[in-house]
Amino acid sequence: MRYVSTRGQSPSVGFTDAVLGGLAPDGGLYVPEAWPSFSASEIAAMAGRPYAEVAAQVIGAFAGDEIPTEALKAMCAEAYGTFSHKAVVPLTQIAPDAFIAELFHGPSLAFKDVAMQILARLYDHLLGKQRRTQTILCATSGDTGGAAVEAFRGARNVKVVALFPEGRISEVQRRFMTTAAEDNIACVAVSGTFDDCQAIVKAAFQDQSLRQAVDLSGVNSINFARIAAQAVYFFTTAVALGAPQRAVSYCVPSGNFGDAFAGYVAMRMGLPIARIVAATNSNDILARAFETGGYARGSVQATLSPAMDIQSASNFERLYFEAVGRDPAQTARAFAAFAETGALDIPPAALAAMQKTFRGVAVGEAETERTIVQTLDQTGELIDPHTAVGVAALSHVDLAGPVVVLSTAHAAKFPEDVARVTGVTPTLPRGVADLSARTERFDRLAADGEAIKAHVRAFAGA
Ligand SMILES: *Cc1c(COP(=O)(O)O)cnc(C)c1O
Repeated sequence: MRYVSTRGQSPSVGFTDAVLGGLAPDGGLYVPEAWPSFSASEIAAMAGRPYAEVAAQVIGAFAGDEIPTEALKAMCAEAYGTFSHKAVVPLTQIAPDAFIAELFHGPSLAFKDVAMQILARLYDHLLGKQRRTQTILCATSGDTGGAAVEAFRGARNVKVVALFPEGRISEVQRRFMTTAAEDNIACVAVSGTFDDCQAIVKAAFQDQSLRQAVDLSGVNSINFARIAAQAVYFFTTAVALGAPQRAVSYCVPSGNFGDAFAGYVAMRMGLPIARIVAATNSNDILARAFETGGYARGSVQATLSPAMDIQSASNFERLYFEAVGRDPAQTARAFAAFAETGALDIPPAALAAMQKTFRGVAVGEAETERTIVQTLDQTGELIDPHTAVGVAALSHVDLAGPVVVLSTAHAAKFPEDVARVTGVTPTLPRGVADLSARTERFDRLAADGEAIKAHVRAFAGA
């Protein structure tokens, strides 16, 4: 399986280089040269099988012969063995034809665990084969850092430096990062904002000498292996609800559009999906794009669902590429213009192609709060604000047949807001109940790029 860049100016690469490289050298995103697919009987046979086995089958279709089947199966078994629920991604019914897919049973209680747990094992495996050690540098506004630390702690061939804005993430989010005792993990509290942290990471990636010295790598949501890993739960949940004999729709709380795009990937692989609704908070770039054809950045507003406070949905470039018939020149032009002006117009034919599957819905803060309360009253389920955006979007669209809302975080990750609107304080699952008693370990640094780069070098031993 070869991977091509959406901008067409980089040579095609294999799965290993697409995963370890992240962004293509021409600034585009890697996509498979052709979508692998499963027959209806292969999809039907996924019903009732262990999650890790379906994961190995789906991810294996993308890895091709670059990872031996038995090794991939073992990695998936280990990755999904860290989840506290035996089903890994269980379904809960919330209405006659509506379900929640609980993606939050991983070690850091957010859906990012689903992809990050297998990504860490893929990294260790692929780097080990090349006798190479990489340093992952990431900035986190909350969930990514915790999921990365939980996944990569103890990895043999990877070191992780996680930057977070001091005092601007919740205590639960911070503790998922700072309580890892393994010495391949370094957390840095930066006296600044998330944007400062992100700018420092960006500058570090542009420093060629640092890049080479520490073999810098990133694990943000543009990494294709994350998308492949996220396609898995569309298969497991759809077959549980009657696919491939009947089509299922999805409602996806969206920010960077990785999760919703993974649904599109599952569909291209043969899964009958009727509709995918991209549900956003008031940072509604995706909702506007699907409804009007204008993909235009607004200013970022802080909301109750901070993991979705994004005004430039990185993975959207992949869908655009598909919708313009995989024309790399057109994609390159459109996204160069977007980088410059903050806006691009989706051509009418491409918009029509997107609208065959996608709808966009933006949900305000009051409606998000109301939805948390209503869901508790009507079903007994305590949902987090990100999930609530997805549940709220259901009432804005007319969907026939079963619909699955992806539940992207455990309510206990946002205990203050959930308690304030419902009067019920969500409790942490048993496995992490001692989180607040664990010892924290992190450094404090100023929002100074040079100081942080020196810190990364020293930590990586370069
Ligand atoms: C990252 C995240 C999202 C958004 O997912 P994308 O793939 O970026 O669209 C939604 N909810 C939670 C809790 C997240 O951590």
